[in-house]
Amino acid sequence: MSKSLSSRTENIAASLTVAIDTLAKQMIADGKDIVSLGAGEPDFFTPDFIKNQAIKAIEENKTRYTSPLGILELRRAISDKLKRENNLNYGENQIIVTSGAKHAIFNSLAALINPGDEVIIPAPYWVTYPELVKWLGGVPVFVTASKEDHFKIKAQALKAACTRKTKAILMNNPCNPTGAVYNKEELESLAKVIVDEDIYCISDEVYEYFCYENDFVSIGTFPGMEDRTIIVNGFSKSFCMTGWRVGYDAAPEPIAKIIGKIQGQATHHPSNIAQYGALAALQMDKMEVQKMAMAFRRRRDYMLGRMEKIVNEKVHAPEGAFYLFVPVSHLYNEKIKGSVELCSYLLENFNLAIVPGAAFGDDSCVRFSYAASDETLQKACDRFEVGIKSLR
Ligand code: GLU
Repeated sequence: MSKSLSSRTENIAASLTVAIDTLAKQMIADGKDIVSLGAGEPDFFTPDFIKNQAIKAIEENKTRYTSPLGILELRRAISDKLKRENNLNYGENQIIVTSGAKHAIFNSLAALINPGDEVIIPAPYWVTYPELVKWLGGVPVFVTASKEDHFKIKAQALKAACTRKTKAILMNNPCNPTGAVYNKEELESLAKVIVDEDIYCISDEVYEYFCYENDFVSIGTFPGMEDRTIIVNGFSKSFCMTGWRVGYDAAPEPIAKIIGKIQGQATHHPSNIAQYGALAALQMDKMEVQKMAMAFRRRRDYMLGRMEKIVNEKVHAPEGAFYLFVPVSHLYNEKIKGSVELCSYLLENFNLAIVPGAAFGDDSCVRFSYAASDETLQKACDRFEVGIKSLR
């Protein structure tokens, strides 16, 4: 075949988190003793109440097409949740239920970006953000959040990065991979710049329930942000529903209309059965989520203690999410020159799957997910320790 394929896809990379997770799961299926802290996937099962409501939806034949925005009961429940928990006002027609939060980010960017538009992304960033921006013809502009600043960008740096081509900022709070959580004052100063510069804000809040020091605050609550903020969230992490693929956009009305149009043409809507499961998640007692957050906090402390001893360096204590971003560049040598080589070396020789920092725009670190059982975390640390010793 001589015809070329889509040139748009040529300069985008495959997701490394997804690739490592798939490879590790394949190796386990092939009988290898792999410990994987690659993808951020809670080790707990989906709560029974959610599963039972989804089964009921099948039994009640709730299996036909619905609105491209998603089922009305779920959109109402999301709208209520945003009001009650986050002090955000998005009506039921401003909510679009998507196939996971990743899809909601895609929708948001697709609704906003024209070719050449710049999208500001604080770095380190989640692997998918720049690739989606590029895919849609936009230009990712990175603003580095240094370890000294607890991996959070400052308002002045945001202002300095804005040009007349800037269309939006893509925030992730709490942040994957660093675990940074912006407090009220920090968000307020960023929101002022966003309003002054007259740009949009996509706020990925998928880890909102996993904040270990302070309460979560949404950037969408500050003055002037309401009609320029698209909230992205999902059920995968909070309710252990990774494979169900349900997330959502909550958007200002004109943007919600465009996203509805895109979704009506691209997917119609996510599976109704999964949407009824998500509805049950919002009706459930929050205790289950709180228990899980407590377990993650305890695991974070265990991982921090072990990692600092192993790498003999200060490791940033994540205030949220469930990842540890561990500095390793002082361990690089002739053979292991960067985070990708280090992760390959650990997987090939020590059966440990973790994600290179290069995937998140910081080659000096590697990322561990601690959304795994105590036993798995202990094994992962033991293997990492032996692997690191072998480098010295
Ligand atoms: N969001 C998770 C992670 O960063 C799952 C994998 C993915 O979609 O990237 O590990």
